[in-house]
Amino acid sequence: MTDYLFEPTAPATIPIIGSDKLYPVNRIFCVGRNYEAHAAEMGAVVDREAPFYFTKSPTTLVMAEGEIAYAPRTENYHYEMELVFALKSGGTKITEADALSHIYGCAAGLDMTRRDLQNKAKENRKPWDTAKDVDESAVITPLRQMSEVPSVASGRIHLSQNGTVKQDADLSEMVWSVPEIIADLSTMYTLQQGDVIYMGTPAGVGAVSRGDVLAGGVEGIGDFEVKIA
Ligand code: MN
Repeated sequence: MTDYLFEPTAPATIPIIGSDKLYPVNRIFCVGRNYEAHAAEMGAVVDREAPFYFTKSPTTLVMAEGEIAYAPRTENYHYEMELVFALKSGGTKITEADALSHIYGCAAGLDMTRRDLQNKAKENRKPWDTAKDVDESAVITPLRQMSEVPSVASGRIHLSQNGTVKQDADLSEMVWSVPEIIADLSTMYTLQQGDVIYMGTPAGVGAVSRGDVLAGGVEGIGDFEVKIA
């Protein structure tokens, strides 16, 4: 047995619909500005030359149920409703044609964001880490196995806040498709089983307050309701 100084932290895991096994998470990648209308509301334009990414630590993962924490050190904590997928295998230079065969399953998720810190980081040309890599900010539903997923190319994606619809779009509005993202990301990283990818948010992002109820979903993939503690 390896003689660790202390017991290594157990991996973050995601429950799987229809299985007693847990999906162990390796890394979390997130796509930025993947819907034209969201880029516009952020005062940006989509870079059609190439997608861009940021990461969250696996320790930021939290299930989309019950209560999630309002993050410290922010006065403008935003929801971003997103399609999420999880890999069962990886590699480099994966082709778009092969891309979907590497996906184990999909989920609905929230990329919670300290918007005030992100805006300040953008102004000062500083990194986004403290805006995005936030404890309990990678919110996710249980994984739906790929054989049960109707589509990652179309389907309603929506979020309501205290019963009012705030985000309502279709996956077909994504600038970069799931196969395109897998192909591109695999030119920069050796993708691995356990890697989880958040596909970016449509328009309508906004701030949450403590006590808010967020209800969201991706058609045929997952639905959830959480309260901001
Ligand atoms: Mn996002």
